[in-house]
Amino acid sequence: MKIAFFDTKEYDRQAFEPYDGKDGLHFHFYETKLNEDTADLAKGADAVCVFVNDDLNAAVIDRLCALGIGLIALRCAGYNNVDLSAARNRIRIVRVPAYSPYAVAEHAMAMLLCSIRRIHKAYIRTKDFNFSLTGLTGFDLHGKTVGVIGTGKIGRVFIDLCKGFGMKILAYDKYPARIDGVSYTDLDRLFRESDILSLHCPLTAETVHLIGKNSIAKMKKGVVIINTSRGALIDSEDLLAGIKDRRIGAACLDVYEEESDLFFEDFSGHIVNDDILARLITMPNVIVTSHQAFLTREALSAIAAVTVKNLLSYAKKEALENEVCSPDRPQDA
Ligand code: NAD
Repeated sequence: MKIAFFDTKEYDRQAFEPYDGKDGLHFHFYETKLNEDTADLAKGADAVCVFVNDDLNAAVIDRLCALGIGLIALRCAGYNNVDLSAARNRIRIVRVPAYSPYAVAEHAMAMLLCSIRRIHKAYIRTKDFNFSLTGLTGFDLHGKTVGVIGTGKIGRVFIDLCKGFGMKILAYDKYPARIDGVSYTDLDRLFRESDILSLHCPLTAETVHLIGKNSIAKMKKGVVIINTSRGALIDSEDLLAGIKDRRIGAACLDVYEEESDLFFEDFSGHIVNDDILARLITMPNVIVTSHQAFLTREALSAIAAVTVKNLLSYAKKEALENEVCSPDRPQDA
């Protein structure tokens, strides 16, 4: 089975190369992202392996089908970058539903601590032998209220971390669970009462721009917003406006609405045309990481192992445990 592997980075190769040539799997690694211009690289392959910023729109899916590709193997959990209705009954899709919720939740907490204790500022100062503390005053997490939106695998690990800091936890989920020490509430109260907001729900038609002008207007002055989920959960222009008028105290962004042309690449010698992102990055109270939350050794190994298992199940015509949109389960689409 030949697999065209898109958006390959060195860490992907390191994780997947041990499986290359074994059990009949042959990976062809391409650095480019999958999109309409690059889909033809998959010619001769049986499957494509893709990541969060590969674009699986209807035109790309049409092309993959024309090339005889039978499987899209996502090496991530989210599948908002795939046009599921274009794929239904034509091409199968598998994903890695869970690899390390700890990786993402710990990154969210790392960003929060970095932001509120001004570690990003202190690091640069002391590198320059500037030992002044002026402007570095932070606040305790203990006793603060965190609002968690989405209490699935990652949200729950984040909640456990917050409990360790002695925080009060409010939560909102479309399908609330029963979690000790967590009060589920509606979004209005969550926005009104949270000192910190962390997003851990998927990007769907319902959650696009969940954080925007209207919700920001309801938030506590000085709220810290953390997004390690998907960029389009936040309207970036409204976020910038909220930061400028001082309602938002800080933003920790591992994902960004328009990240697909920028994140994972080095633009340090270039002019970046995205004015909103450029302005956000200039803010002293905004920390941006480029979709890095997943990037731990443990997560990469788990992603490779589950993806290979998905590919082998397909090759052996077994049931696809991690299928996203099965012809037998059209409701998934
Ligand atoms: P999960 O499926 O375990 O949990 C998602 C939760 O969101 C569920 O409890 C679900 O009921 C809830 N939900 C669904 N629709 C909702 C809505 N409209 N409003 C509120 N809650 C809703 O997923 P997970 O593994 O915890 O991952 C969460 C998200 O994290 C993923 O969707 C993905 O976008 C993102 N993620 C980011 C990275 C990264 O590197 N930054 C890595 C992995 C996952």
